[in-house]
Amino acid sequence: MTNPGTQGKPLRLFNSLTRKVEEFHPMNRAETRIYSCGPTVYNDAHIGNLRAYVFTDTLRRALTWKGQTVKHVINITDVGHLTSDQDEGEDKMELASQKMARDIWQIADHFTRAFKDDLRKLNVLRPSLWSTATDHIQEMIACAERLQRAGVTYELPTGLYFDTTKVPNYGSLSLTPMEGQSEGARVERIEGKRNPSDFAIWRRSPETGGKRQMEWLSPWGAGAPGWHLECSVMSMKYLGSPFDIHTGGIDHREIHHCNEIAQNQACTGADHSGANWWMHNNFLVDRSGKMSKSKGEFATLTSLIKRGIHPLAFRLLCLSTHYRSELEFSPEIVAGQQVRLKRLLGAVTALRLKVAPGEWLRIPREIAYSSGASLSYPRSVLENTLSPEAQQFVQSFDGELAEDLMTPRLLPILDEVLGHAKLSPEDKLRVIASMDMVLGLNLLDTRRVDLSVRPESAPLSEQEVEALLLQRQEARKAKDFARADQIREQLNLAGIDLMDGQQPAWEWRPSLA
Ligand code: AMP
Ligand code: ZN
Repeated sequence: MTNPGTQGKPLRLFNSLTRKVEEFHPMNRAETRIYSCGPTVYNDAHIGNLRAYVFTDTLRRALTWKGQTVKHVINITDVGHLTSDQDEGEDKMELASQKMARDIWQIADHFTRAFKDDLRKLNVLRPSLWSTATDHIQEMIACAERLQRAGVTYELPTGLYFDTTKVPNYGSLSLTPMEGQSEGARVERIEGKRNPSDFAIWRRSPETGGKRQMEWLSPWGAGAPGWHLECSVMSMKYLGSPFDIHTGGIDHREIHHCNEIAQNQACTGADHSGANWWMHNNFLVDRSGKMSKSKGEFATLTSLIKRGIHPLAFRLLCLSTHYRSELEFSPEIVAGQQVRLKRLLGAVTALRLKVAPGEWLRIPREIAYSSGASLSYPRSVLENTLSPEAQQFVQSFDGELAEDLMTPRLLPILDEVLGHAKLSPEDKLRVIASMDMVLGLNLLDTRRVDLSVRPESAPLSEQEVEALLLQRQEARKAKDFARADQIREQLNLAGIDLMDGQQPAWEWRPSLA
């Protein structure tokens, strides 16, 4: 049995290293290995950060669609990320702890949980492994020692630094040529730094200001690892070197990933960068420009939910723009995507009513985040033959997906399937089920999304609903519970959540259970 995508077009992905869209082949046919730079957990993730993880989730789902097994690692940065990516300033975590007057470990724990919760609501598949920076300090020290032995470091009173002139082609990933970077733009004003682009591998704790909450002993004094070292160490530890794909936001292309590559090369002695593909999502922007936590005001998933926006409407917004383009955000734009999602759910619900339950397919529970990291294809989709027309839709979907994850072109295909005059409802549902494996909108598992949405083309009129409610009441009176349940199911499928003793709820509500 094969996944539908395996027979289709070869997957092509943009590689920031070569600056080209290239045919993707995993190193090991049995498994594709992906590392995604995780959040720095000193605050809630903003929706720009979340865009980065909807992108990696789409990548992962696309690889699965293509028949590959994916090992996905996301890290949690709970130490080492300074207020500027250029090694300048204070550790973000220490600063947050001072500002919030809370223990740094509590802050890390709180925002790590909040982040994972956001991903769950966005239907982002749980990674195969979460790796937390502070769980890997000894490995980081060992790697820094290896770098020292390799002769690419120098020590200053502030810590251990990487000399970026010691690796060939340092910064080749960056879009800004190194020589074009002004002192102010890239250098931290640390005395003794040899080159503007040199960066800290280990930061010694300042002698003044008392003991840090997060510090460890090392050959270079008590201190903390540099942010870039963390990702090199954790990615190599769990995925080997080189592995297949490294992801992050486009800001990481300029400094963080250049520094990771320099470390990887010096550490392994190899001339490869440590990952065969480097992929970057573009920014989410609002009226004030790139969304960023340091601006103070930013939108979070929770703030969207409070405004009545369903998390999957935000997911749909992310899919509506290609990951390499800027994604424009405004409350109106995301509200527009919510209307679109409601329309899709309504249309799918209407289809389900035309098909006897269980006749077309059962939604595999593995799709759902809560059931674990696995994502497997609905067997029933594959076991049921699609009509040639339906197959064509699957093929065009595959073709657009295979071309560097062209998600904005996938959505019109979905609309076409739904509105097609000749496809049978069964075929439509099968095709949508397979497409939703990639889109992750829970279109068929509508109970997870919220069935209180009323389908636009509601197959039941209000009189019909009233009549059914009456019939159900009579069935209950006659203790015919099987019939009563059947009617409840019928109403549920029509988008009506029945709570005995209450009016049916018609309106859209975010349901996050
Ligand atoms: P951070 O918590 O700052 O380390 O960022 C977590 C992830 O979000 C990284 O991959 C960043 O590159 C990415 N990111 C940060 N800001 C944005 C934004 N406005 N739009 C999209 N991605 C972003
Ligand atoms: Zn990283």
